[in-house]
Amino acid sequence: MTSSITFFCLLLFTACATAQKPAEAQKRPSRPSRGEPGKNQSGPADPEIAAILKDVSPQRIQATIEKLVSFGNRSTLSPQDDAAIASGKGIGAAREWIKSQFEQYSKDCGGCLEVKTDEFVQPPSRRVNTPTKLVNVYAVLKGTDPEAAKRIYVVSGHYDSRNNDNFNVTDPAPGANDDASGTSVSMECARVMSKHKFPATVIFLTVPGEEQGLYGSKHFAEMAKEQGWHIDAMLNNDIVGGNKSPEQNPNIVRVFSEGIPTTVLTLGTPASAGNPATPGTADAAKVRQIRMLGMEDDSPSRQLARYMVQQVGQKYEAVFGPFHPQMIYRQDRFLRGGDHTSFNEAGFTAVRITEYREDFNRQHQTPRTENGIEYGDWPKWVDFDYVANVARINAGTLASLASAPAEPQNVRVETQKLENDTDLTWEASPDGNVAEYQVLWRDTTSPTWDHVQSVGTELKAHLDMSKDNVFFAVRAVDKKGNASLPVVPLPQGPPPRPAASTGGAK
Ligand SMILES: [Zn+2]
Repeated sequence: MTSSITFFCLLLFTACATAQKPAEAQKRPSRPSRGEPGKNQSGPADPEIAAILKDVSPQRIQATIEKLVSFGNRSTLSPQDDAAIASGKGIGAAREWIKSQFEQYSKDCGGCLEVKTDEFVQPPSRRVNTPTKLVNVYAVLKGTDPEAAKRIYVVSGHYDSRNNDNFNVTDPAPGANDDASGTSVSMECARVMSKHKFPATVIFLTVPGEEQGLYGSKHFAEMAKEQGWHIDAMLNNDIVGGNKSPEQNPNIVRVFSEGIPTTVLTLGTPASAGNPATPGTADAAKVRQIRMLGMEDDSPSRQLARYMVQQVGQKYEAVFGPFHPQMIYRQDRFLRGGDHTSFNEAGFTAVRITEYREDFNRQHQTPRTENGIEYGDWPKWVDFDYVANVARINAGTLASLASAPAEPQNVRVETQKLENDTDLTWEASPDGNVAEYQVLWRDTTSPTWDHVQSVGTELKAHLDMSKDNVFFAVRAVDKKGNASLPVVPLPQGPPPRPAASTGGAK
């Protein structure tokens, strides 16, 4: 506990961001209104975004999922030659159809989407028996502002499927929930959002190779990293069908996010059949900073999850009714992985979106009936209204972030001396139309940003409360209330120091 004192509690007494007039500059600022916790802090809804959410169609989503199931077996290893594509079976036919749909959406908006592919040959591995062509299919809705357009927001689902046997490419592998549902979310977002314009860029992505080892997403994320793309957030939709089992909760979708970023700390893996052990890695300075500041719950990916809860689910409650996202403080479920991890590993902010309760009799199963139990991932168990709500959470997140200004930069908390007030400083958002900056805070035990205070276009704020007792963040907001992702301040002053050096601080 004492170790935090030296660097947390220190700030200059003079600066006062809330003082507007010279006379007031002498006064100690009053304690800001703490407001009501939770959803009252989400701000006004943007009518254009509300209209986008209402445009999402459960019927279109149903048609997309049923069409994807009609390709029979969408294994990454299934045939994709011209004859297979012409026969309407296998992953090649599925891929060509997805591409044709994106092209149709683009035609409907006067060519506003750039439909592209990212093709590569995956070498043999444990679940890939021969060099195999993989093709990521995606549509780009380029931002309208030259600077803001460099910011990219990605929504993704995987279009490959599998049954009990990874190498079986002939028996049905319907994959309606896993993951035609996520693919349909990406495609439906493209359809409804392409009718609108946003300052920043949105990419609607569909990937293969997920079931063999996240190969499609890995290739895409590494390409983005190599080319220096500024992917600000990635939404991985995998198993978002809301399967109709009696225990399902149709009003909750889970959002999984990493705590300590993968790029800061990797665990390494023990040796397994055919695979050597890989060592873990740690960025010691960043690990220490996270630990000293108590930032285990404030990774960029967790800010994104929080944003989906507060800036989309709560802000557009009038559209969603009781349906809402629920944060899970984990990168993923037990024993499972997903495409967001490829993006986390490449250093991008990314989350996984998955239905509340999975039915494992409906995933990766060869369709059959055994002991009275029906196995198989068929559309009849998918709740299309649920998938539509998931698509709305995605579209709301993408549209809000692509409308909002960029995050404020270099956000700092003054820590030069022991002090019970808090001074924050930051640099302007590098792009976008900032109507105001807002300081957010929450109790250290709260999962959500529960309090907000506008500071206009000032690049600093003075708050009459102790940074020891709350977490702060700063965000940039446009005139319609669309907010950037919040940025948690780092100390301005001495970096976190080990406990041994804090003896004189009391
Ligand atoms: Zn999946």
